[in-house]
Order: sequence, then C-alpha cells, then structure tokens
Amino acid sequence: MGIVVQKFGGTSVATVENIRRATGWTIEEKKRGNDVVVTVSAMGKTTDELVQLASEIGGKANEREMDLLLSTGEQITVALFTMALKEQGFDAIGLTGWQAGIVTEPVHGRARIEAIQSDRITEELAKDKIVVVAGFQGISNDGEITTLGRGGSDTTAVALAATLKATRCDIFTDVTGVFTADPRYIRQARQLSAISYDEMLELAHLGANVLHPRAVEFAKNDRIPLVVRSSMENKTGTYIEEVVSVEKNLIVRGVAFEKDITRIQVYGLPNEIHCLSSIFSLLAESHINVDIIIQSTTEANPSSVSFSIQTEDLESTVQLLERNKEDIQYEHLEWESGLAKVSIVGSGMISNPGVAAKMFSTLSQEGIFIKMVSTSEIKISVVVDEKHMVKASELLHQAFELERVSQPTY
Ligand code: ASP
Ligand code: MG
Repeated sequence: MGIVVQKFGGTSVATVENIRRATGWTIEEKKRGNDVVVTVSAMGKTTDELVQLASEIGGKANEREMDLLLSTGEQITVALFTMALKEQGFDAIGLTGWQAGIVTEPVHGRARIEAIQSDRITEELAKDKIVVVAGFQGISNDGEITTLGRGGSDTTAVALAATLKATRCDIFTDVTGVFTADPRYIRQARQLSAISYDEMLELAHLGANVLHPRAVEFAKNDRIPLVVRSSMENKTGTYIEEVVSVEKNLIVRGVAFEKDITRIQVYGLPNEIHCLSSIFSLLAESHINVDIIIQSTTEANPSSVSFSIQTEDLESTVQLLERNKEDIQYEHLEWESGLAKVSIVGSGMISNPGVAAKMFSTLSQEGIFIKMVSTSEIKISVVVDEKHMVKASELLHQAFELERVSQPTY
C-alpha cells in the first residue's frame, strides 16, 4: 500500500458536522491500508472574514501580519480535524506549515513552495499516524510565516503528494468534479470523467475555479494522478492525468469564461524598437497582469497597441501610462471596460484545423462581436461584451457538442 494525500476545501470543513463527514473519507482510506496525509483549508468563509477584519482595521498593507492572520484559518481546521479523527479512535497528529517542513520563498501573500522537508511527516507516518497538515501556508528560510495565495491549499496538497511520492492526491470539494463549463451558468454542462494536465492547467488559468493553477503545474511535473471529487456524496470524481484520449471525436473539452476585463488601446506610438518593451516593463514593475496583447504596425504610420487587463487594475494602469506619456511618446489612450473573456480548451485542437474558424462563425452568426483573440496550442480565447458572455459560452458548448461527453458512471 502507498501514501494517499487528501485535501478538503473550505466548504467541506465549514462546520463541525462537515469536518466529521470529511474524516469519514480519511478513515476509509486508512482502513484500506494506506498511509494518509490530509491537507485542509480554513473553515467555510474564514479567510474572507479575516481579510475583512484586516480591512476594517486598515491593515491590509501589512503583508507580514496579513500572513500571520490568514494562516490562523487553516490552523483551526487542522486542530479540529485531528481531534475528530482521534475521537473516532484513530491516531493522528496535526501540523502547521512550518511543523510539516513546508519551505517557501520569502514572499508574503503569494509565496511559492520551494521544498518540503518531510522528515517529520515521514516519522509520524511510521508511527502509523494520520498526518493532518495546514494548507495554504509555509515558512521562509528567514523564519517568516508565508501564505501561498488564495486557493493555495490545493498546491500544498499536490506538493505534499509529490514529495511523499503518493500514489494519488484526492481533492475533496463542493462539486462532484470538473465540468465542461460552470454548471451554475451553463445548464448543458457535463462532468468530465477525465482531463489532461495541460487542459486542466489552461482551464484553471482561464477562471475555472476548481483547482489552483500552481497545483496543476506541480501535478503535471511530477505526474501525480489527481482526482477532484465531492466530499458530500459518494460519486466518482474527475481524473486529471497525463494523456486523455479524444473521445467521440470531441475536439474541445471545456469552455471557460471570466468577466471584469478591460481593453486598453494606446494610439500613435513611435515606430521605435523599444516602445513596446517600455510600456510592458512599466506594467510588469507595477505587478499589473497583462493578458492579451495585439499590436498593429505599418512602416509608414504610427502604430498602436491594445491589451487586456483585469478591470480592478484599470485605474493604476491608466495613471501609470499617463504619468509616463512623455517617455513612451504615445498620442492618446482609450479604454473599454465591461468585457469578458470566453475560451475553449482541448488537446484535440493540435491535430484539427478549423477550430478557430468554427468558433468565430458560431459567435458571428449570433451577432456577437469579437474584440480580441488569443490562442495557444490547445486554447482559443476571445474577448466579447460582458453581456454576451454566458450566451457565447452556451453557443460554443453546443457548437463543439460538449453535451456528448460521456459522464462518469456512478
Ligand atoms: N483558505 C485559503 C483561501 O480561502 C486557501 C484555500 O482555501 O485554499 O483562499
Ligand atoms: Mg479552492
């Protein structure tokens, strides 16, 4: 038998009753003869509430103390989860991030895990204990408590699975698996029985909230089989693994969408070699995340560039560009908010031409105007008006026949 890592998200441990139910999955795995390491999130909306407290006191800018504060959420769950296991007669031990040896880079609020010094965990497993580890937190080499960014407990789980060479990592959550689209918006959405790491990585980056993108990266690098499943119901989840065959000739595996996108257009740029790099270096230095970039240059005319950002970054982006107008030497700026990004993802695209054509014609037939496009090997994203976001996603779900996906059988 091997080691199995389980992760329980906020909803799965939101109440004492939920914690008890969650321990049932742990006990079942232990009884099967596996060593079990559990990672937990903070209970329910605890992290949001802690953030709220910090804003009320006007302290959100204190990054170090924010980590000190937010890391307490997971610590509560670890203690209660461990108590619940012991109460049911199973030997267990709860560990904070630093006790578990989770070493991160010395950055607050969004630290990356650098290593897991797993001796303590291994020792406890050798004593036949179930080990419960606080998700979302670690310690830097200079002894500071760090957190991994919102949703980061997924990453803790997968990093533990990779270090401990676990046979599987189960992510227990409040949905039964990964869907072809968000079922809260798209009625026809179907649960996938499997999806590849690359597809999941694209979906996670594109706003599908099931898994933290960095967790999927870890899983991909170390080939950790991941399962996303419900902690409430006994149903087969979705397997995330290396290669998943294209079933029934379906080229696309999922549709993702994200609102609150703004397009910025910078007009009248000099045709100079450094011009683009000066704009985007400025934005990068201010940690403004730029997504799609479209440049149009002809030799005779001044050129222009447009790019998309999250609407929450609009004010700082405009201020930054206006402050540096002289240096960049552009003529004027325009922007448009209220946009959304709709994407289709599928490994089948690599070997099937005409996917973009079908996407564009599907949308244009319904009068949905496409404002920007970006592609990767297995993804095509378009930016449209926010009011068309759900409709566009439905149309694409239909056009690429995603309701034909075979769902897991229970
Ligand atoms: N509790 C943290 C959050 O709410 C981390 C996590 O749940 O993964 O973002
Ligand atoms: Mg999550």
